[in-house]
Parts: sequence; structure tokens; C-alpha cells
Amino acid sequence: MKLAIDGGKPIRSSYLPYAKQWIDDKDIKQVIEVLKSDYLTTGPMIQRFETKIADYVGSKYAVAFANGTAALHGAIFAAGIKEGDEVITSPITFVSSANCVLFQGGTVVFADIDHITYNIDPTKIEELITYKTKAIIPVDFTGQPVDLEKIKEIAKKYNLIVIEDAAHALGAIYRGKHIGSISDMTMFSFHPVKHITTGEGGIITTNNEKYYQKLLQFRSHGITKSPSQLINYDGPWYYEMQHLGYNYRITDIQAALGISQLAKLDKFLKLRQKYVKMYNEAFINIEGIQIPYQAKNVTSSWHLYVIRLKLDRLWVSRKEVFAALKAENIGVNVHYLPVYFHPFYQGLGYKRGLCPKAEKLYEEMITLPLFPKMSEEDVNDVIRAVKKVIGYYLK
Ligand SMILES: *Cc1c(COP(=O)(O)O)cnc(C)c1O
Repeated sequence: MKLAIDGGKPIRSSYLPYAKQWIDDKDIKQVIEVLKSDYLTTGPMIQRFETKIADYVGSKYAVAFANGTAALHGAIFAAGIKEGDEVITSPITFVSSANCVLFQGGTVVFADIDHITYNIDPTKIEELITYKTKAIIPVDFTGQPVDLEKIKEIAKKYNLIVIEDAAHALGAIYRGKHIGSISDMTMFSFHPVKHITTGEGGIITTNNEKYYQKLLQFRSHGITKSPSQLINYDGPWYYEMQHLGYNYRITDIQAALGISQLAKLDKFLKLRQKYVKMYNEAFINIEGIQIPYQAKNVTSSWHLYVIRLKLDRLWVSRKEVFAALKAENIGVNVHYLPVYFHPFYQGLGYKRGLCPKAEKLYEEMITLPLFPKMSEEDVNDVIRAVKKVIGYYLK
């Protein structure tokens, strides 16, 4: 069959994106009710949403933010990271996992990944620890939990705070426990491509009351009105700004959408699992590609389905395979460019070659479409397109 990129007929007549939200009439009704109510922001919906997320993941507290990046910024503040402190994270992630450290003046240290799970390699973390290291930001890449037991062991040994970037991992399970109940603080994002959406939105879950109070304050300009926290007291109108916080609040409109979406999370997760099974079964014996590895003792929430090209079996590079799949109308993507390849980080002095496994993975990876609202027919289109393109480019 002639590839679409060479003028052949594409597998699909319409474009299939790599991810997309699923909003139904019930979601819309919940949002409209808030629009008709007394509070658009800082009303009752936010706390209700926070309680529901905390109950779902099994944490004591949850603080919702305007987006996941703001939530990570809050966690870095609560952890007390400041100039001179070092924080270790993975290079295979969205820029926010590293940027949040810079926001508070800290220094980012990138630890290489494990070449099988694509998650941060705990032995590499330990090699990079200095007297300046204060925290670790492990990322549950694609929804597969990191080796939390090992990371917590290292954190305990060196007295470090673990801020888990679980933007991909809402609903994921590590040794029988939900992600969100294990690290010192855990971040989830509610961007439309993530498991559930609030338009923009994010949250930190924690079991630590001290962090909880700091997160609340940071979200709202560093201001408190709580009598137990005030340093001075002038009268019943009085509030106090004690830290340099931000306006990082989420709205009640968004929180209502989040509550409604959360009720569908388990259904969404099951559909993702079903489609992953279809992909795995279709691709396991295809020459030229490696399907994602699934670690024992964990259940991935399957935010992304990433195939790895065996480039020694193909006569083209990732670039040609990517373009050919796109021409078949398959919304492929690449997650991620190693963070320190970005010009901003290059400008800070990070050198190529820093994390060889991450850099090699970057050359070989392609993200295929995966989202609950796609149909089995869509999944089969992707499978047919991958077989067509890889088959053509095999040596
Ligand atoms: C989406 C995402 C974020 C940031 O979330 P926003 O809500 O978009 O700010 C952070 N880290 C990772 C790994 C993400 O995928």
C-alpha cells in the first residue's frame, strides 16, 4: 500500500488527535448551576472538589490551584526551596517539573532515566545528591508510577522532600495504594489532555498539615485571616500577608466541572486500559517497534501510549515515521524533548550528553493517540496506520 505521504490514500479521512477531553451534558449542567449561583470563585465548590480528590487518592489534604504548574510552584514554596538549594528531577517530562524549582530560585539537577520504564533511575538520583540537595521531583511518566519505595528510602536517608509530579498518574496504583497518598506532596493536572479536566487546573495532595497550610496561603497572595496564624491583630476586618504568594486560585466554575468529571474517572481509566491492550496485542510481534514496559506491582493510569522505534531495523529515522503517520491522519506526538535541550536551559549552561538514556529515548519515541472518547474503530485505524508505515520502512 502506498503511504499517504507518498501520495497514497490515508488510512483515515479525518484527523485523530493524540488526546482530547470528554465533556457530557451532565458536566455542562453542573457548570451552569455554578454560573447561576452566588459564587463564581472562592465558594463552596473548591473545597468540595478538594475533599473528593483527597478521598479518591487517600490523602488527608488537597489544595486545588489554577493549573498544575502553579500547584508545583506551591509545593516548591511549601517545601522551603530557595536560592542555593538543589532539586533532582527527570529530563523526560514537561518543562513545569523543572521550571517550578527555578521560580523559587532553586537549581535543577537532571537525573537520567531507566531505559526500560523511562522513569527516573533511583541509582542516578543517589549519585547526584550533594549537601545542597533538598528535594526530588519524580515524574510518573505516561501514568506508570516511579519506584516510590526506592525513592522514599533515598529521601529518608538524605532527609529530602519528595514532590511527585503525577500529572500523568491520576488513578494509578503503586503496591495497592493510589498515587497521591504516598509522597510528601503529589501534583495532579486537570488540563484537557489529562485524565479529567477543569479547563485549566491542578492540585496538590498531602498528608502533612504544615504543607497544607502553606499551600493554602501561597495560593492566595501569601495572605491569611486565620486567627491561629496571625502575627498581629487589629480587628475583625484584619488579614495579613506573611509570604510573597500569588493569585493561583481555581474558580468554582472549574471545581464543579472537576467534581462532575471525577465521577467518570474509573470509566475513563477502564477505556484507556482497554485500548492499551488492543495496541499491545497488535504491536507485540511487529518488528521495528518496542511496546511500553509495564512494571510489576503497579497499575498505570495510561495517560500516554509511547512506542519506541528500533531504529536499527528501519531505514529511516523517527522524523520520517512521524511525518508518515501524520499524513495517514494519525495525531502522533513526542513526549518529551529532554527539558535541558530547550534553549532556555541551554542558556543556563546544561550540556547535551548530560543524560544519555533520555537523549536516546528522545530519538526513538512516538506517542500514539490515546483517550477515552476515541472508539475501537479509531484504535484500529491507528494500528493499521502503524503497521502500514513501519512495514514500509522496515529494512
Ligand atoms: C501537564 C503537565 C504538567 C503541568 O500541568 P498544567 O496543568 O498544564 O500546568 C506538569 N508536569 C507534567 C508531567 C505534565 O504532563
